[in-house]
Amino acid sequence: MATIATPLQARLLAVRTRIVSASTAAGRAPDSVRLVAVSKTFSADAVREAAAIGQRDFGENYVQEAVEKLRNTVDLPLVWHFIGPIQSNKTVLLAEHFDWVHTIDREKIARRLSEQRPEGRAPLNVCIQVNISGESSKSGVASTDVTALARIITSLPRLRLRGLMAIPENTDDPDLQRQAFARLRTILESLQRDGMVLDTLSMGMSADLEAAIAEGATMVRVGTAIFGERNR
Ligand SMILES: *Cc1c(COP(=O)(O)O)cnc(C)c1O
Repeated sequence: MATIATPLQARLLAVRTRIVSASTAAGRAPDSVRLVAVSKTFSADAVREAAAIGQRDFGENYVQEAVEKLRNTVDLPLVWHFIGPIQSNKTVLLAEHFDWVHTIDREKIARRLSEQRPEGRAPLNVCIQVNISGESSKSGVASTDVTALARIITSLPRLRLRGLMAIPENTDDPDLQRQAFARLRTILESLQRDGMVLDTLSMGMSADLEAAIAEGATMVRVGTAIFGERNR
């Protein structure tokens, strides 16, 4: 592994250490948690800096910005995750460029992504975004509607449903953080009991990744703690 030479690389290493500590504290193998480095608003050069010390998974929220960054890093073996809100006129770009889409919240988007996924590529890995904070959040499917959407997605040929994603209401209280993440885990477990083969819980960010890992997160999406504060 290359030596740690920059502040960004030092912060990335610190986040990896947090993941290892949280996994160990939860009695889980550290490699059961995948780190998605959220590079939105940061440059392709920042992505390169992280990639230079082995970071492979990157997350983006804004389609246009992301596609440009992908084009500037095609020489690297990276895995790209879309984690932002999806507009239906942007699905073709997602289907063509991304490896994962974490934020599916309606049937129409799922059908378009499946139809538009190029033949030459593996099926698109997707998660359903669930609204686990009730009325306070507008994005994501209501918990009661997850099963129906999951069944539809499972029937689409060019998508591979991997699991669930959530962005809980912001709170500093670790107990409340855990309660929210536990709700997502419970929904995943009920789908698994229904016979669906799902392996992904995408939950936890810079401020709450420990609580998410304690409740079973298999992917944490971390931006600020790696790249620094965003200006927008
Ligand atoms: C921006 C963003 C993140 C990263 O958040 P940080 O607090 O900067 O770690 C994670 N998930 C989603 C969906 C985001 O939009």
